[in-house]
Amino acid sequence: MKRILLKLSGEALAGDKHHGFDEPTVTVVAKQVKQLVDAGVQVGIVIGGGNFWRGRTSETIDRTKADQIGMLATVMNCIYVSEIFRSVGMMTSVLTPFECGSITKLYSKDRANKYFAHNMVVFFAGGTGHPYFSTDTATVLRAVEIEADGIYLAKAIDGVYDSDPKVNPSAKKYDQVSIQEVIDKKLAVVDLTASVMCMENHIPMYVFGLGETNSIVNAVNGQFNGTVVTV
Ligand code: UDP
Repeated sequence: MKRILLKLSGEALAGDKHHGFDEPTVTVVAKQVKQLVDAGVQVGIVIGGGNFWRGRTSETIDRTKADQIGMLATVMNCIYVSEIFRSVGMMTSVLTPFECGSITKLYSKDRANKYFAHNMVVFFAGGTGHPYFSTDTATVLRAVEIEADGIYLAKAIDGVYDSDPKVNPSAKKYDQVSIQEVIDKKLAVVDLTASVMCMENHIPMYVFGLGETNSIVNAVNGQFNGTVVTV
């Protein structure tokens, strides 16, 4: 049985609108994840919050409070995407590391495993539950805890480059790069805290463009032209 952790950036949910949700974009994601679930893959999902809020960009309010808003943004994203997943025929559950009353269930490894065993897609919402962290770190943390076979990073860009291709037209894309090189060269894959966790826990990452046709299914089946980050 293959178990994966799929990370979707908040911006990716917004499509061309760059804010909020774009239903057609999320429906395409849902249909791809359904193919994986139908094939027996267990799928955990972490979603960023950038389509609503980023804690570190606020100059006026306290960082801890700003980050709490960011974490709640990821909860909204997970509830929305979970409902779109249900609309295409999947069973889902949204777990958070803090109590949200009857809106979500409190995260525990045992609870996640129970839902995976029932063929449910498990959304890990609310990040790590702590300020000064990111959903990158939550992604690696949950992937390690649930013993995922790999982390799949669906991004707006189609892989890892040696420099920003929007700025440098001759930027080179890596087919494969080690996590050590990602850290040494400060390549934008996941943030440093998440990179170190990934290295220490030997969990590979697969980086690919969400916008390409069937990219999630292809990445999980090993037929992708993104970047493998080795550990
Ligand atoms: N956040 C947090 N702790 C976490 C995860 C997220 O405080 O464990 C907050 C933080 O404010 C972040 C926002 O939630 O800016 C959205 O998360 P995401 O990882 O998308 O943020 P980004 O890295 O894009 O700023």
